[in-house]
Amino acid sequence: MFRRIRTLLCLLSLILCLATGWFWWRSYGWYTIVTYGKSNGEAVTFFHDMGGLYVGTQTKFRGSTHNRAAVEGWSAHNFRNDLPLSFFEADVDAVPQRWKPVRVLSGFNTDYKIWFIVVPHWFLMLLLGIWPAIRGWRWICRRKRFDAGCCRVCGYDLCATPGRCPECGHTPAGGSIQS
Ligand SMILES: [Zn+2]
Repeated sequence: MFRRIRTLLCLLSLILCLATGWFWWRSYGWYTIVTYGKSNGEAVTFFHDMGGLYVGTQTKFRGSTHNRAAVEGWSAHNFRNDLPLSFFEADVDAVPQRWKPVRVLSGFNTDYKIWFIVVPHWFLMLLLGIWPAIRGWRWICRRKRFDAGCCRVCGYDLCATPGRCPECGHTPAGGSIQS
């Protein structure tokens, strides 16, 4: 039961890892942004852009009519980006530093100030992919041992006792039925 749950979680991790990879590729051409704006001009924002996932706030200065400062309530946008910098990096003159696994992007211009935590897609992929990779590698190793006539669990040579491992008690699939 637990084994099955672990396998499912591992598979989910792999799927999320691949999905992040797809979003990574996509983030170099498109902004995808979801925002919740409050009446005081502050907005909580999530977006991904130029290889990074951003979570944070943007606060519109009083009197600003800048279209990038969020409107009240929920809003979501998806539009093309042709700049070499991300949405807010360009606006506040930030140095990207995309090699950092976690960074804070903060600054302001005449219309608003921002504060974001930035996690690059590559780092998220690494986190999500490490477990499936280890499991996959182990599976290949077990497979190799099994093909070589050894116990899949402990690697003991099963030439003399193909039905059951004398070392750990593991019974290869079909082994005990045939013998
Ligand atoms: Zn064994």
